[in-house]
This record gives sequence, C-alpha cells and structure tokens, in this order.
Amino acid sequence: MGGRDATMVLLDENGIRCDGRKVDEPRRIMIRAGGLKNADGSAYIEFGDNKILVGVFGPRDVHPKHMSDTDTGILRVRYHMEPFSVGERKNPAPSRREIEISKVIKEALEPAVMLDKFPRTAVDVFIEVLQADGGTRCAALTAASVALADAGIPMRDMVAAIAAGKVADTVILDVNNEEDQAGQADMPIGYMPSLKKITLLQLDGVLTPEEYKKCVDVGVKGCELVYELQKKALHDKYFGKGDE
Ligand code: ADP
Repeated sequence: MGGRDATMVLLDENGIRCDGRKVDEPRRIMIRAGGLKNADGSAYIEFGDNKILVGVFGPRDVHPKHMSDTDTGILRVRYHMEPFSVGERKNPAPSRREIEISKVIKEALEPAVMLDKFPRTAVDVFIEVLQADGGTRCAALTAASVALADAGIPMRDMVAAIAAGKVADTVILDVNNEEDQAGQADMPIGYMPSLKKITLLQLDGVLTPEEYKKCVDVGVKGCELVYELQKKALHDKYFGKGDE
C-alpha cells in the first residue's frame, strides 16, 4: 500500500481498471497439472503475469528423524522467488517475506490435506515463482493444491485462492501489482469450495466492516471460479483435454 504512483488511474470513470479489467474480472488464469517427471506431483500456473511452478514430493521419510510425528504426517512448504522474477534482481537468499509466505501457504493447505493418513512421513511442496506480478501467494496456493492432488495425496478438498481488494473506494477482484502498490487494500483469500471453509485470509490496508464483508464475498466467488480451473487442469491431465 502507500500510493507509490499517485498519478496512476486505478479506476476510470467507466469503472475500468489500470489493466483494462472490470472490477469483478479476474486476470487470465491457466493451470496445468503435471509436467515435472522427477516430482511425485506438479503443477504450473499463469495467473495474469505471474508464472509459478510447483513440485510435490512424498509422502517420504523425514530427515532429521526427530522432526517426524508418530501420529501424523507433516507438510513442508518452500515458497521461493527466482532472482529474475521481478524487475530489479531479487537476492536469492530466502527473505523474510518468502519465509512468511511459505508459512501462510502451509497453514492454508493443512486443513485440506489428510496428514493423519501417513504418520511419520513428510510431504514437501516446492514453489518456484518464475515471474511475479502481484498475488503470487494466491496463485502459488492454487497451484500447490493441484500439485498435491496430482501427487495422489489424500485431500478433503482443494484450496483455491484469489485476492479481493479496494482501489478508488471500490471493491475489486484479483489485485495486480500496481493495484497492490497504489491501492487501498489487498485481501488474499484461500477457500475450500466443497467444504465452504476459508483457510487463508490476510488483509493489508483499511476497510470498513461493509467493505470487509464485500471483499470476502467477492473473494469467495473468485475462488469458486479458480476451483473450476483447478478441476479442469486435473481432468485434462487424467482424462484428456475436452474440445479446445
Ligand atoms: P503477493 O505476491 O502474494 O501479492 P506481496 O504483496 O508481498 O505478495 O507482493 C506483491 C508483489 O510485489 C509481488 O507479487 C511481486 O510482484 C512484488 N515483489 C515482491 N517482492 C519483491 C522484490 N523483492 N522485488 C521486487 N518486487 C517484489
């Protein structure tokens, strides 16, 4: 937040956003299940200009052993941005932000994964952000969920994610990088569409109680759209593509 470019028109008089979208229009989303032959499961997502690859490994033995849990499996998530993923080269060392995002994605996936089915083992989720343009945590969470399903990990539901937000006092769906930087609020939401449960909700910015409720509603509807694309990606891989 904070209005990096105060002159940018985030919403014009016709209700059109800086990248030409309507307020409730998500960016173009393409999800592919599979693709990495050395991973147990994988997925690739393009979410607007975000490009993210996810590899899942496991369930497998935990090293060091004392990290394992005799009652349940554990989920480990590493979110990593490539140095070339943003305009100015990013230091390849894990940043505070990457450690935080790894943690929130792990916690957003845990309610969906049946970890109790594979005690003493770990499932590792490696997320590589190849290109970032705002909303990478949502895109990564969405792809990680597809990669876990692709790995055959038992799950209660998928987790679909998208951000709602506010620009020019208007609630919008799917916040891009400019809107994130110069807008008024950004609310990433992760949602289990069949169980109708939210597993990730963060808020950067200020909203009235009414705007807060509207953001949650708009975000959940967006997650339902994303969910359809997750299912399509898995369907395309396992049953072949429909008529395209
Ligand atoms: P998210 O990607 O989930 O929206 P943030 O709100 O922290 O997470 O980041 C917003 C956007 O800022 C990122 O998607 C990326 O485009 C950009 N960004 C993040 N870290 C850096 C960085 N080190 N250098 C340049 N841009 C960055």
